[in-house]
Amino acid sequence: MEAQLEELRKKLEHQCELTKRLQSDNKNLQQQIKEKDKQLQELQSRYDELVPECRSQRSSVDMATEVRQSRAAVIAPEPLADLLDIPRVKKTASEAEQIRQAVLKNDFLSRLDEEQISMMVELLEAVDRCPGDDIIVEGSEGDSMYIVAAGELKVTQAGHELRTLSSGDVFGELAILYNCKRTASVKAATAVRLWSIQRQKYRTIMTNKSKKKREQLMGFLKTAQTLKALNDLQLSKIIDSMEEVKFQKNEVIVREGAEGNTFYIILEGEVLVTKRVNNQQKTIRRMGQGEHFGELALIREILRTATCTAMGPVTCFCIDKEVFEETIPIENLELHNELKGTEPSTEPENVRSGSTLRLKDLVPVFYQEGRYQGDPVTLGVGGFGRVELVTSVHHGKYYAVKKVSKKHIVAKRQEAHMLFEKRILQVIQSDFIVKLHAAFRDSRYIYMLMEFCQGGEIWTKLKEVGRFDEPVAVFVTACVVEAFAYLHKKSIMYRDLKPENLLLDARGYVKLVDFGFAKELSRGVKTYSFCGTPEYMAPEIIQNQGHDYAADFWSLGVLVYELLVGSPPFSSSEPQKIYSKILDGILKYPAFMSEAARSLISKLCRPRPGQRLGNTKNGIKDVRNHRWFSMVNWHKLRLGQVEAPTVRLIRKGPCYINFDRFPHDKTQAEEELSGWDRDF
Ligand code: AMP
Repeated sequence: MEAQLEELRKKLEHQCELTKRLQSDNKNLQQQIKEKDKQLQELQSRYDELVPECRSQRSSVDMATEVRQSRAAVIAPEPLADLLDIPRVKKTASEAEQIRQAVLKNDFLSRLDEEQISMMVELLEAVDRCPGDDIIVEGSEGDSMYIVAAGELKVTQAGHELRTLSSGDVFGELAILYNCKRTASVKAATAVRLWSIQRQKYRTIMTNKSKKKREQLMGFLKTAQTLKALNDLQLSKIIDSMEEVKFQKNEVIVREGAEGNTFYIILEGEVLVTKRVNNQQKTIRRMGQGEHFGELALIREILRTATCTAMGPVTCFCIDKEVFEETIPIENLELHNELKGTEPSTEPENVRSGSTLRLKDLVPVFYQEGRYQGDPVTLGVGGFGRVELVTSVHHGKYYAVKKVSKKHIVAKRQEAHMLFEKRILQVIQSDFIVKLHAAFRDSRYIYMLMEFCQGGEIWTKLKEVGRFDEPVAVFVTACVVEAFAYLHKKSIMYRDLKPENLLLDARGYVKLVDFGFAKELSRGVKTYSFCGTPEYMAPEIIQNQGHDYAADFWSLGVLVYELLVGSPPFSSSEPQKIYSKILDGILKYPAFMSEAARSLISKLCRPRPGQRLGNTKNGIKDVRNHRWFSMVNWHKLRLGQVEAPTVRLIRKGPCYINFDRFPHDKTQAEEELSGWDRDF
């Protein structure tokens, strides 16, 4: 018995020993876990501080050296010069051929259409330079592109030699699209002859050409009997849906007796119309520029009653019945109703001028911890200024204040855009668009006091999680659709959709911010400014063809893709390559993407603006009705009664916790007293 007791005691002691050891191990482990937690927190906070620094550098670094973890810099619209008499420079046949070959060899330029290339050949001017001359200086702003006619040049970047350019090479080509910083220097190594063209000349000519072409097409369409009842807006939509087709000599365009479903307008060349009479082809007539054929095919099923053959090279503009039906609601001319809603708002300009908020009653909010502790909170750094967090001394409410240097605005010729941004935000009353509470100005800055969206940017959330699951992406996009529906109804195009411009409010609802590129535009009218964020630009903007509301729908497709995949469909570290990919229009979907999402994206990202979902006859209703949105109750969404799946992305903590952190900018802008902002 005693021996048994002794054995049990020993076992008990052993167990106690074990438990003690385990408890001590456990303590050690807990201690280790605590330490690891601390390290993790420190790392997170360092990461939080570094990420925005990279981001703020991103917007100022040279675009071509950027990697798309980030976004390429935005491009602000630039007023076009009034160059009525731009001289054409005569070229010999071999010079023209050399230029043409150089253009075709260049990945980006080769995507310009035939007319644009010919225009370039005509406008290029000869420039002769001596050995040692600087042609392009790294970091300077570029306004010309060059083709080497003869001689050699050296390309260097940060002092390192990159390559040698010789006859037939192109450089500085992005400058014909917009004002971009040069990414490298180019120096003449020998005596050189260059062909050069300035952006303002090229764009002015192209814009005028595109406008003239539309006017001409409008005139042609007006002669078609079947289209007589249509108004200019509808005719303009038809033009947006039409495509250019080329035929060779003797090619049959339509054949008698065959089923017909395409309508053609002849842009260039002659077409022979023949008919079978007594087993023989009889010539009926010849048709030339501006004449059309096949219009009946647009409204009913027909068999072609004659054969049309190209007599030489022929270029036609054509539209299929199916596309036509999507473009024009023949039965219910709903577009007329829509028009009523699109008349400019009659709301008084200073709708919120009753506001008692004053600049001096607003005080900055300061970071409470971390590297920038004690500095004022900066919520974001945009293309045209900083957005800071402030609070009212009277009621403690938070606001986001956008502060922009007036000197900078004048230097970048953005006065009209700033005034316009303020004017639209003032009259906008949508739960899907950030509210402007007041606007102020002083001798150095203009200020826009906005509601504070404390949930942070969709961009930040997307980078945190990699990509969104479908319900989150659907919800975010649905909010954007509502914002677009509101804006388009007020005849406002947004033109800068991207995750950085989508903010979450405290409930996880998405709001559109930054109206710097927005534009008021009557239906049926096009605008020609080159602006936006490269990855989100529609092909018609890149090609200077004139753009309208359809460009917003293109960017909506890009957004859906980026939300679901984590990066946009057309991306590269070099803007030229982004543009080339956009013009190629090839969409590659990852295997995990649902069929419904693919269908929506491909319909929104159709190259022809007139065929794009949202811009066809039912307008934005077609977008809402797409099956990808089948779970959305649009009515409840508008009333704010849908529970936002995005709410789980919002972090809890200090009010700025959902934003990247930015160092305080202590510099003060110079005074600007010209008075352009009198009405701000
Ligand atoms: P913007 O200059 O308008 O593009 O704004 C730059 C950045 O500031 C945005 O991407 C947001 O991160 C932030 N921001 C702008 N407006 C607000 C707002 N109303 N509430 C919170 N953050 C904002």
